[in-house]
Amino acid sequence: MKAAFYTGDKTFEIRSVEAQAPAADEVQVQVAYCGVCGTDLHAYHGSMDARIGHNRVIGHEMSGTVTAIGSDVGDVKEGDHVVIRPLKACGECPACKAGHSHICHNLKFLGLDTDGAFQQSWTVPANTVHKIPSSMPLKYGALVEPIAVACHDVRRSRLQAGEDVLVIGGGPIGMLVAMVARKQGGNVIISEVSEQRLAFAQQLGFETINPLNEDLVTTINQKTWDKGADVVFEVSGSQPGVEAMTAAAAVRGRIVMVAIHPNKPQVDMFQFFWRELELLGARVYEGQDFEDAIQMVTNGDIDCESMITDVRALSEITQAFEALSGNPQAMKSLIQVADEIQ
Ligand SMILES: [Zn+2]
Ligand SMILES: [Zn+2]
Repeated sequence: MKAAFYTGDKTFEIRSVEAQAPAADEVQVQVAYCGVCGTDLHAYHGSMDARIGHNRVIGHEMSGTVTAIGSDVGDVKEGDHVVIRPLKACGECPACKAGHSHICHNLKFLGLDTDGAFQQSWTVPANTVHKIPSSMPLKYGALVEPIAVACHDVRRSRLQAGEDVLVIGGGPIGMLVAMVARKQGGNVIISEVSEQRLAFAQQLGFETINPLNEDLVTTINQKTWDKGADVVFEVSGSQPGVEAMTAAAAVRGRIVMVAIHPNKPQVDMFQFFWRELELLGARVYEGQDFEDAIQMVTNGDIDCESMITDVRALSEITQAFEALSGNPQAMKSLIQVADEIQ
């Protein structure tokens, strides 16, 4: 089988390697599609070399078909269509013991800390496997992981139907957060500075603001009768985004920090006192978020077709990463990893 190894310096090498037989508690999956995540792009550009090294198969936003199961595995069988929740927790630290294994002190992320899904056969722990209906297109299955991120973010916000929601940043995750929040009854407005992304958000039926052209807080207040947004998702990873998140929030508003900021931002702490704001962290997802995401895709609640910008063969993985770098128009690029999709 073929595997794409990241070998440093914006380079992938496609190599033929042996598929790994599953251990007793493992499942072997033929990878159909694997999406390119923002994290994968960071890895490609060398920002994660210290963590992943120069001989690593990355990729985790995948869908595929079970090809073999270990002797202790009972809940999936050969031929099942599946997605993988790419987390490996230690099971012993205080976070794991408290039931929060997705924020395990020793969390390993499959596809960064171990080899990932840009390979035709991927062998993973059985407890990371989620079945998807065979009726779901495998292309859409590759979106389940980023949709699960959005489900987790929205669940952390305790969003109620009818609440006003501001999503700051309209990249792929911001767009999915907006879709999940809308599905749960939120009145969603997306703030974004790229005209192409704004046009895409409008196509999806969202109200939008370009804070470069209009004052974001004034506009939010106009739209909410001076109340502000009940829930704010900071997905921009920028200092202006962090300023907007506190300025545009309603009294007792909940702010969810989704973005991974490259530098420590300055946060207006005064607003937390004046308006009893809440700031909530959100990291990856839990099993329930994967199940919710699978349900949403199954029900057609997410416009998967619009989210997929392009699909390329594994042999074109470098071109796919190059095309995504600094291209605001792109949402999700998928790599077709299997030679043929069954
Ligand atoms: Zn991802
Ligand atoms: Zn742990």
